[in-house]
Amino acid sequence: MSSTFKIIKKSSKSKARAGILTTPHGEIHTPVFMPVGTQSTVKAMTPEMVKECGAQIILANTYHLSLRPGADLINDFGGLHPWMNWKGPILTDSGGYQVFSLSNMRKITPEGVSFKSHIDGSVHHFSPKSVVELQLKFNSDILMPLDICSPHTATEQDIINDLAITHAWEKEAYLHWKSKDVQNQLFAIVQGGMFTHLRDQSIDFLTQLDFPGFALGGVSVGESRQEMETIIGHSIPKFPENKPRYVMGIGLPENLKFGIEHGVDMFDCVIPTRLARHGQAFIPGGKLTIKNEIHKKDPSPIDPTCACYCCAHYSRAYLRHLFMAKEILALTLMSIHNVHFLVQLVDKMRAGILEED
Ligand SMILES: [Zn+2]
Repeated sequence: MSSTFKIIKKSSKSKARAGILTTPHGEIHTPVFMPVGTQSTVKAMTPEMVKECGAQIILANTYHLSLRPGADLINDFGGLHPWMNWKGPILTDSGGYQVFSLSNMRKITPEGVSFKSHIDGSVHHFSPKSVVELQLKFNSDILMPLDICSPHTATEQDIINDLAITHAWEKEAYLHWKSKDVQNQLFAIVQGGMFTHLRDQSIDFLTQLDFPGFALGGVSVGESRQEMETIIGHSIPKFPENKPRYVMGIGLPENLKFGIEHGVDMFDCVIPTRLARHGQAFIPGGKLTIKNEIHKKDPSPIDPTCACYCCAHYSRAYLRHLFMAKEILALTLMSIHNVHFLVQLVDKMRAGILEED
């Protein structure tokens, strides 16, 4: 496959870069924040709302969608894009993380992992090849390989053991993907826990294979902000320069800023829609809790500097009323604001890189 990623500008002030990643469903301008639609929907939002927020690419999840409704059914509908009416690029997570966080029974062998569904207790098996096949049935633009996401409390020996399996799985996934000769891109996932020398080993192993992109997994799994920044700051500059670099599962404004300054191109996180469902909205410099009494008669929008649909039309007082009355429109409007906030934050940082002399 010819190179699909082009860096168009590097910052002179930091390691930040602006690029363009080409996928079967269009170009992605990086750095980029990707909203998460685990169940093939960004919760409480229509695809048009997501797009209007400026989102270029969204995520869906292989674990959840393969258990329900099933990859074959989605394939019968032509893949995820027509299924969920999203015309832009889609990245699917492999489901490895969910197998280890949601399933109460799992058995790992060199061949893969057997686990019980958290929905009905039925037993399933994921192998490196089957997880690639599931994502090809979804027709995801970017696929992720099966891996073991070790908990942040894992010992060094645990991580060494997990890494050996993860690397074998990723190599098998890579060779299988390569043999298919498809335009859908498979990224690698670097693991290694909170140990920088194990992160180095993971980078050394995976960069021997010509993956179209490289992700950093196993961060934002309960570690401190400082531990996360150490791992990102240590690892990302060692990722291949000419490939997209993705940090999985982070989305707080301070994390996005740190990541971009250290050369990260792609981010995803459930946080904008999850916070919205808890009545919290991002504002410059912090967060606002909409149910607080102080907003009861406030005619101003969540953020007067925000250009989103919610801030253009609705007051804090109205949003507070909806939230207190448990009206579902509150969740939609606050999700619009939060997704818009993070997408635009990253877009503004990209514009800043491009405007540098
Ligand atoms: Zn807004």
